[in-house]
Amino acid sequence: MSRNAESTAFRSALEVIRAVEPRVADAIGAELTDQRESLKLIASENYASPATLLAMGNWFSDKYAEGTVGRRFYAGCQNVDTVEALAAEHARELFGAAHAYVQPHSGIDANLVAFWAVLADRVESPALKKAQVRQVNDLTEADWFALRRELGNQRMLGMSLDAGGHLTHGFRPNISGKMFDQRSYGTDPATGLIDYDRVAEAAREFKPLILVGGYSAYPRKVNFRILREIADSVGATFMVDMAHFAGLVAGKVFTGDFDPVPHAHIVTTTTHKSLRGPRGGMVLCQPELADQVDRGCPMVLGGPLPHVMAAKAVALAEARRPDFADYAQRIVDNAQALAEGLLSRGATLVTGGTDNHLVLIDVSGYGLTGRQAEQALLDSGIVTNRNSVPQDPNGAWYTSGIRVGTPALTTRGLGTAEMDQTAELIHTVLTQTTAGANADGTPSKAKYTLDAGLADKIARQATDLLATYPLYPGIDLS
Ligand SMILES: *Cc1c(COP(=O)(O)O)cnc(C)c1O
Repeated sequence: MSRNAESTAFRSALEVIRAVEPRVADAIGAELTDQRESLKLIASENYASPATLLAMGNWFSDKYAEGTVGRRFYAGCQNVDTVEALAAEHARELFGAAHAYVQPHSGIDANLVAFWAVLADRVESPALKKAQVRQVNDLTEADWFALRRELGNQRMLGMSLDAGGHLTHGFRPNISGKMFDQRSYGTDPATGLIDYDRVAEAAREFKPLILVGGYSAYPRKVNFRILREIADSVGATFMVDMAHFAGLVAGKVFTGDFDPVPHAHIVTTTTHKSLRGPRGGMVLCQPELADQVDRGCPMVLGGPLPHVMAAKAVALAEARRPDFADYAQRIVDNAQALAEGLLSRGATLVTGGTDNHLVLIDVSGYGLTGRQAEQALLDSGIVTNRNSVPQDPNGAWYTSGIRVGTPALTTRGLGTAEMDQTAELIHTVLTQTTAGANADGTPSKAKYTLDAGLADKIARQATDLLATYPLYPGIDLS
């Protein structure tokens, strides 16, 4: 690909936008500058390829395409069929999945599709059969009322939020927590690792309809074979949300027991995190659930986004190339180098290290809350996010942790030597930041002091670290 083509494409696009609303064109340009200049360690973010980005900005956005490939509720979907079928084919081949549904607009949506597919399969279908009718419209008022209550009376067991689970795995502020009676499994307080015996015990006691595996802040591999055995032992459907680590599965860093796809009945993911595609979601499943999954729209999803499905097809094609496996391995090598660099300087890490793309720093050792650490790092040009640690004394808002991840910087080309330098910058900021006090003298969970000169110096060092690894080297907007 000629670099010239990329520059021309994006420059022309901005010119067209500028003619209508120049402030939007300016904001798009400014976003590129900001992304280029910041040391992005947000574990859930990445940089999609120019091809992926361009596949999204076009007239596919204009098309309605409810239904599935070849079975649409709208006319004229032949080109949407092409891209949706391609995205699904790439997804099946990449992950070795029997079925792929590429319509979900986000990770949350993919989870909703999965939950309702399981509820339809395990609660609704048996009720229809028992009533000897084909569909819900044929149920009597009484049977319908009973079914609705039954759908709302199911149980889910997932990973607790402070151990690294996700809000969509049955927690009250999310609709999943309102739909399901939820319990969660945590991690061993001594090791920080999932204790599979405790998960098995919780499953035996609680008898969930769905056992959920997957996380957004757990820095270790998960043994999905064992979780499947636990699910089977209590008749639960085993669902894995691999939103964070799909890129490591795609790149064959997680194989065997650690690859969720052969073990789970249903797998959900985002496409924009370590997988490095457009913002979106996806569901992979065993053949038995395929029909229910395909009803995601209009069950819980609005009309499909054909432009995003086109971009998913492009990104998934990229992930099938051999260099993606190399990328995935470098993500983990970098995370481990970052963890080593932090540990050797005296930081405390949840579980003492990492097997994946993320590192969870317990910043209480620096005398800070997650909130103070996050802001002080941001002042110094280092973008991270605060995160709870197991049994967090500071709750979900202030927290005691900082989550850092390597997918984005690895895309830029930074390697293990730069991760050690990054660890030095992070450690310096956290050591030099002091917690502030409230007006009444009590310790503040938000206020802090960090010398502005030092913050500027670190920010310049962060920019220097990035200078050798330009972001989107083929794109010159000037
Ligand atoms: C990020 C994430 C989601 C939500 O993805 P969105 O695209 O933001 O809706 C769901 N589950 C897990 C485990 C995640 O990490």
